[in-house]
Amino acid sequence: MSNTRIQPRENASASRRAAGSSSVSAPRVDDPHSETAIHPGGGAHKLAKREVVLSARQVHKSYKKGKHVIPVLRGVDFAARQGDFTSIVGQSGSGKSTLLHLLGTLDSPDAGEIHFQGQRIDNLPSRERDAYRNRSFGMIFQFYHLLPECNTLENVLMPMMIGAGVFKYWLGRKEYIERAKHLIELVGLSHRLTHKPRELSGGEMQRTAIARALMAQPQLLLADEPTGNLDQKTGREILEILRTLNHEERLTIVMVTHDLTIASEADQMVRLSEGLVEAA
Ligand code: ADP
Ligand code: MG
Repeated sequence: MSNTRIQPRENASASRRAAGSSSVSAPRVDDPHSETAIHPGGGAHKLAKREVVLSARQVHKSYKKGKHVIPVLRGVDFAARQGDFTSIVGQSGSGKSTLLHLLGTLDSPDAGEIHFQGQRIDNLPSRERDAYRNRSFGMIFQFYHLLPECNTLENVLMPMMIGAGVFKYWLGRKEYIERAKHLIELVGLSHRLTHKPRELSGGEMQRTAIARALMAQPQLLLADEPTGNLDQKTGREILEILRTLNHEERLTIVMVTHDLTIASEADQMVRLSEGLVEAA
């Protein structure tokens, strides 16, 4: 799975060099860049070396239920660093999905700020936020959200079909199809190119969703309970794919999960509790 070329970001090879070995199975304990770099309290960390790529600053979010206002996030500080695999854990209902949606500009905070690569993104006009999200973030979810009438290849191509527009897509279709097939191979699904989602297992659907999330060559992957609907073995296989992307391609990943075993394999684990992020 080396030289997979799935993320031709300018700094991918440099960061790979910085990371030393790209062995998938090697733990990152000896990686000098992987010191805990999350600052639940927002304070500076002397050992932090890698750049913060995505952050939440004093983020608040409440939902209205009838007359009641239910505070979910009550001043969350969170930071994900370039090339790191960060997991967010917390009980059901603790606000994990809410936070991930805010980080991914799917929703806006009531107060506080979201920054990506040094730019504040939560207050952009919705069109710009959509463009930002499509360009910069890949997302995967517990229930895959594949289009049922489209086969694996078409589902993976979908971000380009939508994002590029008909004319640009038509011009670039050969390259897009080649990239989609390469990504499908990367997630081990080349033998399922023309299968529709209903003809796929849960694990295969999640593999398709991962390939789709990578199609627009995002800088960051946001994953909401990606193993939550899978049996343990299949869940581990999906985690392995994510770890490989993180190790070999230096893809920055933020993953929400309630599964502590899975979460603990990330570089950093933080916990959402009582509407706040704490180190886990
Ligand atoms: P988690 O992902 O940790 O299980 P969520 O972020 O989905 O938690 O939800 C946190 C809380 O916010 C829950 O109490 C949930 O019922 C509530 N909530 C989430 N989304 C909405 C919404 N769109 N409208 C009203 N309440 C919501
Ligand atoms: Mg959730």
